[in-house]
Amino acid sequence: MLKEILDLPPEDKIFHAVLVFSWTVYLWEAYLSHRQRKIYSSATHVPTELGKIMDAETFEKSRLYQLDKSNFGFWSGLYSETEGTLILLFGGIPFLWKISGSLTGHFGLGPEYEISQSLVFLMLATLFSAIMGLPWSLYSTFVIEEKHGFNQQTLGFFLKDALKKFAVTQCILLPVTSLLLYIIKIGGDYFFIYAWLFTLVVSLVLVTIYADYIAPLFDKFTPLPEGELKTDIESMAKSIDFPLTKIYVVEGSKRSSHSNAYFYGFFKNKRIVLFDTLLEDYSPLNKKNDGESASEPDKNEETGDETKLQPKHKKQGCSNPEVLAVLGHELGHWKLGHTVKHIIISQVNSFLCFFLFAVLIGRQELFMAFGFHDNQPTLIGLLIIFQFIFSPYNELLTFCLTVLSRRFEFQADAFARAMGRSTELCSALIKLNKDNLGFPVADWLFSMWHYSHPPLLERLRAIKDTKKQD
Ligand SMILES: [Zn+2]
Repeated sequence: MLKEILDLPPEDKIFHAVLVFSWTVYLWEAYLSHRQRKIYSSATHVPTELGKIMDAETFEKSRLYQLDKSNFGFWSGLYSETEGTLILLFGGIPFLWKISGSLTGHFGLGPEYEISQSLVFLMLATLFSAIMGLPWSLYSTFVIEEKHGFNQQTLGFFLKDALKKFAVTQCILLPVTSLLLYIIKIGGDYFFIYAWLFTLVVSLVLVTIYADYIAPLFDKFTPLPEGELKTDIESMAKSIDFPLTKIYVVEGSKRSSHSNAYFYGFFKNKRIVLFDTLLEDYSPLNKKNDGESASEPDKNEETGDETKLQPKHKKQGCSNPEVLAVLGHELGHWKLGHTVKHIIISQVNSFLCFFLFAVLIGRQELFMAFGFHDNQPTLIGLLIIFQFIFSPYNELLTFCLTVLSRRFEFQADAFARAMGRSTELCSALIKLNKDNLGFPVADWLFSMWHYSHPPLLERLRAIKDTKKQD
């Protein structure tokens, strides 16, 4: 058996190794999810140490929500792993490449027009994956999120949104890819440096234009109205020299009642974005609820708009001091240099990947492993090397970044505490966990692998611990 494997030609060894690794990762993840699912199914009452922060009803609601999500994750994961394997086994990639070639051939562009063929390939591949993913995302939104009261989208909004997303992605992906392929083609021996610089510039441009030109295509951003919250945020930003230029409220409630806050922007031009669902006084989910007859709690008012705004029966969102504590945490990420560290890590990684790509792209057996016997298109090389050959490295990197992210979360919490906001931060974290139906109990191995944020209890404990040290 071993001898048979050793005698295989290199391209077959590569192909088998890729499949075996992919299934190993899949089985590992499935095992972790299974461990976590066991906790969801068996935890029938609120653990004693949570008694003060979570009532039995919310605990049960969040348990059922997470259980549904986890079961869904099991089936969608199994499906996508199987689909990926079948595509590889039946030569889906060379097949699509051939189709793209005959399509460009129709327009009189022969195989020497590799970039045109690559663009057609990319368009077909993204179309395929969008169509195959659609039923899953429909089910997740309209069955699971709907059942647990999060979904705020109508089918029309959802489909229009999906189409828009596809079109916008194409508008960015196609020109960027064709330029990248061109740079690789003409770059000579040091093409990997130019390719890396190019992707660096593209990501900087995207970060700059995203907020003003791309995000507003999908969601409505309105400046936070003048008032106490605005002045308080401004003075907090000033106190830590955060170069705040604008504060926006995004109408997240049109999509879902999950809540969030973030900041973005370059150097001296930073903006803060608050989800309307985060703000107690602002959330339409609360406003809709006001004055509604209590005897008909399940009545959904049609708004005539494209969305349906399901009012929540409990008030959702945070009070102004809590919002400030959440922002204290977010700005802590900035002040402590977490954002810059993330950018540096991702750029070093991207440079390293392009360098290795340059080393590997000439290896014919890599192409042969994936069914390309007599041609080596650059786009296919990018796909094979970045997605399949680097996958063990990518898994490791993702894990390290998750660990790092948890460290950063603790640090940002401590930052908000140092600003004197620990009490409000604790109550905000508890409220957000409740509003988003987060489940407060986690399997240690599952959370170590997956959680970018430490579990709620650990965070509360850490904030209180540092509180004592004062
Ligand atoms: Zn954070």
